[in-house]
Amino acid sequence: MPSRPVIALLEPNLVLEGSVLALTPAVIAQHGLKGLVLDVDDTIISTHSAVVPPEVKEWMEEVKQIASIALVSNNLSHNRIRRIAAVLDLPYIFGARKPSRKKVRQAVQKMNLPFQEVAMVGDRLFTDVLVGNRLGMFSILVEPMQDSSRRRKRKTWLRSFEVWLSQILSVIFKR
Ligand SMILES: [Mg+2]
Repeated sequence: MPSRPVIALLEPNLVLEGSVLALTPAVIAQHGLKGLVLDVDDTIISTHSAVVPPEVKEWMEEVKQIASIALVSNNLSHNRIRRIAAVLDLPYIFGARKPSRKKVRQAVQKMNLPFQEVAMVGDRLFTDVLVGNRLGMFSILVEPMQDSSRRRKRKTWLRSFEVWLSQILSVIFKR
């Protein structure tokens, strides 16, 4: 089996310009996706918020019609992740240790779908995109969800670095 350069595992299959809300049913269908494994913090809800934004609830209701969905978070707070999953009525895993494959693999296996038809969706290259690529899933990098109550512009150096790196990688590895 030809080994893929490790750095290529950091290249997302799709970089969305916008938050997870930009992942419309049309985009999901266009890539032949039947399932989504969603990161939680800064992907569907700001790390600084405890409240799921109403627009995320609406988006979820729409997307649920066409795809199986599970939440897989590295957050160690069972309470936080359980509460968010309950609001959205979704299965969840917390403390997942992404980019470790174990928990994400479990979530996909429960969906009974081929890995390539399931997207790993998240805001981080080094956890979400990496684990998705390691499992042969369709990896999607989204922009971090803003805190809807404060609308803070949070562009950390790490986030900028990751976006820059994903752009470089997509140039290097375009086939
Ligand atoms: Mg995240």
